[in-house]
Amino acid sequence: MKKNLETLCVQAGWTPKKGEPRVLPIYQSTTFKYETSEQMARLFDLEEAGYFYTRLANPTNDAVASKINALEGGVGCVLTSSGQAANFYAVFNICGAGDHFITSNTIYGGTYNLFGVTLKKLGIECTFVDPEWDDERIEAEFRPNTKCFFGETISNPGGNVFDIERFAKMAHKHGVPLIVDNTFATPINCRPFEWGCDIVTHSTTKYMDGHATQVGGAVVDSGNFDWDAYAEKFPGLTTPDESYHGLTYTKTFGKQAYITKLVSQLMRDLGSIPAPQNSFLLNLGLETLHLRMPRHCENAQRVAEWLEKNEKVAWVNYCGLKGNKYYDLAQKYLPNGSCGVIAFGLKGSKEEAIRFMDNLDFIAIVTHVADARTCVLHPASHTHRQLSDEQLLEAGVRPDLIRLSVGIENCDDIIADLEQAMKKM
Ligand SMILES: *Cc1c(COP(=O)(O)O)cnc(C)c1O
Repeated sequence: MKKNLETLCVQAGWTPKKGEPRVLPIYQSTTFKYETSEQMARLFDLEEAGYFYTRLANPTNDAVASKINALEGGVGCVLTSSGQAANFYAVFNICGAGDHFITSNTIYGGTYNLFGVTLKKLGIECTFVDPEWDDERIEAEFRPNTKCFFGETISNPGGNVFDIERFAKMAHKHGVPLIVDNTFATPINCRPFEWGCDIVTHSTTKYMDGHATQVGGAVVDSGNFDWDAYAEKFPGLTTPDESYHGLTYTKTFGKQAYITKLVSQLMRDLGSIPAPQNSFLLNLGLETLHLRMPRHCENAQRVAEWLEKNEKVAWVNYCGLKGNKYYDLAQKYLPNGSCGVIAFGLKGSKEEAIRFMDNLDFIAIVTHVADARTCVLHPASHTHRQLSDEQLLEAGVRPDLIRLSVGIENCDDIIADLEQAMKKM
């Protein structure tokens, strides 16, 4: 039976059989038992599917991955121990030393560093492009060794909306997949595969969990990219893998080639799996994702409109505001709402902005973002402090930017807290 997103949030991934627990159990076990040596050998020869070691597969992790896969509409999903690991695996699965890829420059600070610094050490080069450049200028950055294009549906912390359809077309014209980090929108508000994106990543640490209890990530494969059509570009998928019984992923696994390679090669060798306990917590969050997201958006819309009218506020960036630079793109990709994160700047000095944050009552200063509790952060002095002012601006982060992550409390209380803190500035 075909189910809607709300039902998938609650029900997908775990379908107990007779006498089994109604609630997804935590299989907190590294290993799984078999009756005979022959049975175990068949698993290692890939002649039979089955659990044997949690680094490769675990029933709790698999159930939650399968729920996220259903929400995004993919052919396969893998959970990782963090969003950082998810973005690393998503790119490293098709890029090796000597390869190149292109990314939007308005992305999360951690991803910016991963791509610009750490991947460089592995011999993978990345070009940062401004999504506002015209097609011709961005297309000039594609090289024969370019292997993918990367962007964030809604950028953290700037709140810029990525034109998924435009960049999917551009990537495909150059024979490479589009990877989109869909963390802030979640599949409740945007499903990037419907716009031509090929691979979706998540930091499940944020709205998916929603309660700030676990750090996790996910990679979802649409199964739509035709690796064999560009076989010479993606030898890791289209030629035999000697470390894996000499099989060729596209031949053996078809539409699931990419995601199978990610598990059986990268996860096997690098091992960034989530603990089953964390996947259990993530699943509890997912069960209410469809209730929380609309409330985050409703509250954020009201707060953004209030900020916009406030004389102490210099500027507000929230794509739900009419007249916002990203309003039209948001109407296209996020018609039901974007997320609860607002970026704004206060008039006056940096010290005054700090005084404002210090005077907040229940709105807390935390590194976290996108959970049930309203919080603030000043990226230039917190998350992004490793970036120079120039890099900050390049990443769409103004030095005076305050990131306000609007929670699901009573909205009058949220506004009252902001108001009393501004009065004390
Ligand atoms: C937080 C975040 C990440 C990194 O995720 P972690 O779970 O903190 O490792 C990646 N992308 C986006 C958009 C994020 O907000």
